[in-house]
Amino acid sequence: PEPIVDIDSLTVKYHSRQGEVTALRDVNLQIGRGEVQAIVGESGSGKSTLLASLLGLLPASAAVEGSISVRAGDQPFDPVRAPAKEATRWRFRQVGYVPQLTQRSLVPVLTVGEHFRQFGFGSDWRAEAVRALTDLGLREPESVLRRYPHELSGGMAQRVCIALATFAGKPLLVADEPTSGLDPLVTVRVADLLLESQRRTQACLLLVTHNLQLARRMATRIAVFRSGVLVEHGPATAVLEDPLHPYTRSLIAAVPRPGHPLALPEPGPDPSGGLIEKAPGHFVAMVGAA
Ligand code: ATP
Ligand code: MG
Repeated sequence: PEPIVDIDSLTVKYHSRQGEVTALRDVNLQIGRGEVQAIVGESGSGKSTLLASLLGLLPASAAVEGSISVRAGDQPFDPVRAPAKEATRWRFRQVGYVPQLTQRSLVPVLTVGEHFRQFGFGSDWRAEAVRALTDLGLREPESVLRRYPHELSGGMAQRVCIALATFAGKPLLVADEPTSGLDPLVTVRVADLLLESQRRTQACLLLVTHNLQLARRMATRIAVFRSGVLVEHGPATAVLEDPLHPYTRSLIAAVPRPGHPLALPEPGPDPSGGLIEKAPGHFVAMVGAA
């Protein structure tokens, strides 16, 4: 698929009073239209730094080498080099941020309709919102638009959050631990709803998660990070069923076996630089290099 995100030799270092921390080290990653790219790795491996880089939200204390190009919108955009104001405008129009899918990520003093009005653009936001909520299985969407967050059930609030992130056909969706705090059954339900919305718009979804079963259910491709290094990347099935890097194996071994295999979407091809290709589209860092 046509690449939407192209990360080229990205290195990010934070300077603090304690010294220098290299949060990402020479990362190469392409993400195509319609892909669901999971980013996994232990705490401190650089996942949030990768998201912040993509969104143009790195703190001033970060030093960046390499480049990012995102083809979401009319022209390729470089979120790490763009002035803050431009990055804000770009995010607003092109990026859907999927928060943790709970009531708490809505603003208590705004109705659902006011959320849509402020997130969207164009004069027909109301018609689009009604369509988005209907697509997500909410009956009486007009009445939902008039409600405040505390007047929504948990399931309604999750659907509202997904609709807000995915409406207006934003080409890039970003989700940071979207289901943490939800029980397993609800996790499966909202994961499927989010996937449905993503497929409808063919957006590219970047999913940061500790939950390998969620990655297995949702992702077409999985990238494994360790200490800022991309150690393995490939189709979700290949990475989870035939992990090549010992670190990936240890992450998988730490997960209790699921009772039954979860359905996987069709993986898509995607080349990745800097790593060794072991099978079509499945790349791994040389062991010992990471
Ligand atoms: P988690 O799973 O805990 O969210 P993460 O994979 O998102 O972890 P990052 O938050 O990207 O990891 O952090 C990567 C490294 O950069 C860590 O060593 C972290 O301590 C460091 N780091 C992150 N933000 C800053 C900052 N603003 N200033 C200094 N160091 C930072
Ligand atoms: Mg993080």
